[in-house]
Amino acid sequence: MEEKLKEIEQAAINDVEEAVDLEDLEQVRIKYLGKKGEITEILKNIGSLPSEQRPVVGKLSNQIKGKLEGLIAKRNTELKEVLKEEKLQTEQIDVTLPGKQTDLGSKHPLTQTFNEIKEIFLGLGFKIAEGPEIEKDYYNFEALNIPKSHPARDMQDSFYISEEVLLRTHTSPVQVRTMEESEVPIRIIAPGRVYRVDEVDANHSPVFHQVEGLMIGENVSFSDLKGILIKVVKELFGENRDVRFRPSYFPFTEPSAEVDVSCAICEGEGCSTCSHTGWLEILGSGMVHPRVLEMSGLDPEKVSGFAFGMGVERIAMLKYGVTDIRLFYENDKRFLEQF
Ligand SMILES: [Zn+2]
Repeated sequence: MEEKLKEIEQAAINDVEEAVDLEDLEQVRIKYLGKKGEITEILKNIGSLPSEQRPVVGKLSNQIKGKLEGLIAKRNTELKEVLKEEKLQTEQIDVTLPGKQTDLGSKHPLTQTFNEIKEIFLGLGFKIAEGPEIEKDYYNFEALNIPKSHPARDMQDSFYISEEVLLRTHTSPVQVRTMEESEVPIRIIAPGRVYRVDEVDANHSPVFHQVEGLMIGENVSFSDLKGILIKVVKELFGENRDVRFRPSYFPFTEPSAEVDVSCAICEGEGCSTCSHTGWLEILGSGMVHPRVLEMSGLDPEKVSGFAFGMGVERIAMLKYGVTDIRLFYENDKRFLEQF
């Protein structure tokens, strides 16, 4: 029996030393000192031994038990140290590693173009006016000399909310509202979002942006229109670009003119960007139609004025050489970070 105890002791000591983690060590404790552990069993059955053996075996078993308990406690402490060390190692912070980069945003090319246009006009003494995007048919069409039967309504099919309410197809209603509310002289630009029923393609989007402008006063003439718009186009596209006025038709202006800027790519020679004309159309303009002035409560005998409008996307596309309008709305960082 004593020999058996010695064997158990040696095996237990080995097991404790070989325990690699706390769970392992607990298994060792259970194996020898648990309720049904090897040492426990011997102690339990001590009564069945011959009487002369009992004290010897009892003493030895208790010694081994005490020794094992001590060893297990020691190993437990060791293993905990190791764990702590491992944890510290894995959680160690390497202060030499580069930090997490936070990408800085930048202004969207349309915002940049908007701001540039606004700055130019503010420098010329214009103020910024705003109006609703959900607009009355009256302000969007009728007050601009576009009655219900007018063919111009076909050119800009609208998103109607009801028969009399729609999403504005241009920022021109802001001009009408301004004429109704303000004292002459008036010098405003109306930047904003507009809506038309257009299929999405490289040049069209059902939502896009415009800047329109209006100048009303005594003796405002077509030469004022030309002077201001030439100045604006050259500020936007560069001093060395040519500007030309081409007769056109709009229901709300008379006379009307499209404004073109010379093509920077071919310098007027003609290329695919300018459809081989040497010119790029950038805005529409004209003298405010007397009927529009009248409808807004102004006297065409006393005051006159001009109006103009440009698409912000188109200006941005020409300025930055963007060939597809959809790029502005896709939020692709590879596109946006170029501006
Ligand atoms: Zn060209």
